[in-house]
Amino acid sequence: MRKVVKDLEDIPAPLVSQEAIDSLQNIISTKNKKLITSDIYRGKYLRADGSKGDAVVEKLDEIYQGKCAYCEERTSIYIEHYRPKGRVLKTNHGGYYWLCYEWTNLLPTCHECNKIGGGKADQFPVKNKHFTFEDCKINQKLDSAKVKANYLNQHEAPFLLHPEIDEPKEFLAFEIETSGKGISMIGLDGINGRGFETIRICNLNRQPLLLNRLDYINDYISNRIKKILLGKYSKPDVPKHTFKSEIKELFEDLDKDKVVLTKPLTLLRWFVMESVDNFQKLIINKLPKKEQDVILAYFQAYKNGDL
Ligand SMILES: [Zn+2]
Repeated sequence: MRKVVKDLEDIPAPLVSQEAIDSLQNIISTKNKKLITSDIYRGKYLRADGSKGDAVVEKLDEIYQGKCAYCEERTSIYIEHYRPKGRVLKTNHGGYYWLCYEWTNLLPTCHECNKIGGGKADQFPVKNKHFTFEDCKINQKLDSAKVKANYLNQHEAPFLLHPEIDEPKEFLAFEIETSGKGISMIGLDGINGRGFETIRICNLNRQPLLLNRLDYINDYISNRIKKILLGKYSKPDVPKHTFKSEIKELFEDLDKDKVVLTKPLTLLRWFVMESVDNFQKLIINKLPKKEQDVILAYFQAYKNGDL
């Protein structure tokens, strides 16, 4: 998960259409959640050429660069209701049906992160109290300010991080699995904190994700360092400063890349480059033993601006 900026004013038209307004009114007055229409929250529309499109899916796909809001895997996206629309698991709350078409409540996710049994689905634990429809009203009408995720999060204090509100860097970190066969995500704010709970709710340490993170780090960093090292051995006559400048160029590349949101695993790429400690834990240990000290020293120097 990484922080994402969504323009809250640029709402896809189908979510604020007369059809959506009428449908929501109907749902609220009958409390019938079966009237919630996926065509509306997906934003179904007809393109100029007559083909069908989903405006909300397309907009979220663009904002999230085709990645899942929770695990960052590239995926065909599903529209996820951050606050579940039908029910809240392990409570007697009947779901936030009045938020079914609310732009700040809609996130793009992969099937795995949101599936029933092993994914988020209807889970939504909070520290305070789950808001009801009555809590979101003013003068007998739905209050447009009280339906926004930002407002609700301030009052309910949910455990699940919201990528458009929270800064995931403050809650999530990475470490090499004890088996050495993957990279797992860990929570930074203690056992049962928001980081820990977000990982648990979305199952962000499922096996394929552990392996994907490790594979990516190996391809993206470790193998590039090894390639530079290989050049050093195969050309012993190349001066030492050439090797050093190649390593520096690589670090500079990785630093530039870490803010490119279109690339996979943004949070992991940022994390690796953030501190000597992180770089040592995830990268250095994967290098040939005899080169570990020298690469670590280069990274330390790079971080101090001395390389
Ligand atoms: Zn996912």
